[in-house]
Amino acid sequence: MSRAKYEPQPSLYDLTLAELEAWLAARGLPKYRARQIFGWAYGQLVAEYDAMTNLPATLRATLAAELPFAPYPAVREVAIAEPEGETIKTLFATPDERHVEAVLMFYPDRATACISCQVGCPIRCTFCATGLGGLERNLTTGEMVAQVVTLARRARTAGRALTNVVMMGMGEPLANYEPSLKMIGILNEPAGLGFGARRVTVSTAGIVPNIDRLTDEPVQVNLAVSLHAPTDELRSALVPLNRRWPVAELLAACRRYSERTHRRVTFEYILIKELNDAPELAAELVRRLAGTLCHVNLIPCNPTAAGPFQSPSGATIDRFAGILRIGGIATTVRWSRGVAIAAACGQLRAEHETQTGRPRLAGARTARRVPVVAPTPAVAAPVGA
Ligand code: SAH
Repeated sequence: MSRAKYEPQPSLYDLTLAELEAWLAARGLPKYRARQIFGWAYGQLVAEYDAMTNLPATLRATLAAELPFAPYPAVREVAIAEPEGETIKTLFATPDERHVEAVLMFYPDRATACISCQVGCPIRCTFCATGLGGLERNLTTGEMVAQVVTLARRARTAGRALTNVVMMGMGEPLANYEPSLKMIGILNEPAGLGFGARRVTVSTAGIVPNIDRLTDEPVQVNLAVSLHAPTDELRSALVPLNRRWPVAELLAACRRYSERTHRRVTFEYILIKELNDAPELAAELVRRLAGTLCHVNLIPCNPTAAGPFQSPSGATIDRFAGILRIGGIATTVRWSRGVAIAAACGQLRAEHETQTGRPRLAGARTARRVPVVAPTPAVAAPVGA
């Protein structure tokens, strides 16, 4: 199959309830079938139309032909038991032979799906395995919804309900804005998964105009921002996007978000040994975040093939966290799940593609033809250009 010409076929998971009603109406079929289909697909989590026993066989056949279910199969699953609960990583293969990852994490009180929104990522953070090859393509709404449904089904098999979705897998959700927001709308649909938007977290490297857009959306989600450094010099070295939207602009957008929504912003701060873990940087972070309704999540860096980045010692992490807490910033340390199964940050894909012989940089060549940020009214030019 030609990779360049691939256009994903719409699947059931691409459609909102209203769109499915219109799809049915255009075929002279009753609208109420849409709710029945949503109930089966998202309530019962069935994986085929033939399981929808109250639909006429002819309708099931039409649906199967025109709106297939899964846009892609799960090709590999790895699981590891961790102290708080199991972590299950799933690798999906798209019809155009690309790979994306999603991770299901069980905690005593919740089950979280960490999903991908792009194949690869345009942001190219220096410490990140996904950023290495650049952006291959955006995922469609259906391809994102399919990850959630697959993990919800997997959770159900384990006797658990999926409670949270975090967009912290591969890709930058605010660079694939409309499909990501549409996915959130579909998860939100009461006739389907009924997933309160407050249980969905969008994590961004800091595309300021689209943070503002998100702030104005009627559907409210949790916002997480990958900060990683309090100064422009250091942040630009870690997150190239910072040259376009520096720390002060980013933090101003975060304040606009929390003032409008009255919600806390989560700042993710990867702690990298001898790079951004100094006490002075913690003190600077306190100064810059003062007065912002926020919470800081310190993430000890996972070593990747991306470079010589390592986690600081436990003592250094504690010292950094302590300075933030004394400074009045709510702080937690989040140890990445799934490190032992290469579940962190694009690592399973990298490992799988190395093992199956897929050239790692093939996508990077294609990537140059894809706009780094999908054109939106707010952001029309490539990031970091
Ligand atoms: N593009 C978005 C979401 C995907 S990355 C963003 O930047 O927020 C999700 C989180 O994983 C980010 O905070 C990212 O910085 C982090 N991450 C990437 N590489 C990592 C590594 N090697 N160790 C720990 N966290 C990493």
